[in-house]
Amino acid sequence: MGSLSASYFERAQEVIPGGVNSPVRAFKSVGGSPLFIQSAKGAYLKDVDGKEYIDLIGSWGPMLFGQAHPSIENAVREALSNGFSFGAPSYNEVLIAEKIVSMIPSIEKVRLVNSGTEATMAAIRLARAYTNRDKIIKFEGCYHGHGDSFLIAAGSGVATLGTPDSPGVTVSTAKDTLTAIYNDLASLELLFKANPNSISAVILEPVVGNMGLVIPEPGFIEGIQQLCQTHGSLLIFDEVMTGFRLSSSGYQGLTQIQPDLTTLGKIIGGGLPVGAYGGKAEIMNMIAPAGPVYQAGTLSGNPLATTAGLAMLNLITNHPEVYQALNQKGEFLAEGIRQQLKDLQIDGFVNQIGSMFTLFFTNIAVKNFSDAKTSDTAKFGVYFREMLNQGVYLPPSQFESWFLSAALDQSHLDHILKASRIALEKTLGA
Ligand code: PMP
Repeated sequence: MGSLSASYFERAQEVIPGGVNSPVRAFKSVGGSPLFIQSAKGAYLKDVDGKEYIDLIGSWGPMLFGQAHPSIENAVREALSNGFSFGAPSYNEVLIAEKIVSMIPSIEKVRLVNSGTEATMAAIRLARAYTNRDKIIKFEGCYHGHGDSFLIAAGSGVATLGTPDSPGVTVSTAKDTLTAIYNDLASLELLFKANPNSISAVILEPVVGNMGLVIPEPGFIEGIQQLCQTHGSLLIFDEVMTGFRLSSSGYQGLTQIQPDLTTLGKIIGGGLPVGAYGGKAEIMNMIAPAGPVYQAGTLSGNPLATTAGLAMLNLITNHPEVYQALNQKGEFLAEGIRQQLKDLQIDGFVNQIGSMFTLFFTNIAVKNFSDAKTSDTAKFGVYFREMLNQGVYLPPSQFESWFLSAALDQSHLDHILKASRIALEKTLGA
């Protein structure tokens, strides 16, 4: 008898393009048929066939404290009784904005939207308006959502599907997006030199999750900021993934670098749909109705989403120790898997920072998108499917980060390592 997941997927394909509402969920690059999830709690996802999995996707980032944390669940239940959407200002919007401003020093004013994609689209519109310049620079393999301007040499699901440029993005849009190589300042400098006075902003994931996890080398981000300052361009940190994940003030909390604008998402919604962009007041004051740059949203500042987000940010401020604990879990897994690779003499490379993690099936250190693309994605598929078989749900692509949560205890970590050993052995025969 087939599984319920398989039968739902068949039905889904009849009525939803590819059977999913976001491409990477379809398991295209790893093989097999996607699992349909029934419920999620703590460290676990449960599928519609009743099997439980340790969750290393964490909804692609939001679930810092694990699935359905009681504080967030209770806050949302309580908020429900007051209605679902007002289309008018509500006090929660003030509270969450004040909270974000207090937690991220570079943000003086913030605007809420409904997704990371909306946040990045608005941020570059604002940067273009503020600088009166058209072009942006992004880095190959960074993913900033599915806005037209970003679907150029993009990572995440775009890399997974091997469609670096999407049909439907016009040539005239694409020509305003220049791409540099991550961890290669010279490539950025060349673009600035070749395009004098025309770069509005440089946008990047300061720690990249979307080519798999890639970490900036010492001096790289500082060098970007310097080039931006020299050339009068804004620096935009896309912290949709890293915001509140790497520290209570994101990647920027780990360094003293303050970008001009920051985009946020994922964790600030606690699992409900929220994005945000913010930065210097002087720049943010250009947004309507304070200024002429238009940006709006029917559901923006939604009371349930802001309730979940506030509960999440309160959890973070009440538990500042969470980051050190997550980093210990991350290091434990990274060291464990590195040792397994060594013991089994398998070509693999592990990048880890805090609760973000990727095992690349390659024999080189992964520092940029070209390095990531040397990975053996077929081997990753074998590894992924065996991990699933062993009850561990990884992101279904080589070019994604695993997300650890505070709900993982030592027994979960031991289970993951045990499963990994078996899955790595499987790749040997593949
Ligand atoms: N920026 C980054 C760094 C992301 O990782 C993502 C999504 N994974 C986005 C933007 C887009 O966010 P969303 O999927 O919420 O539109």
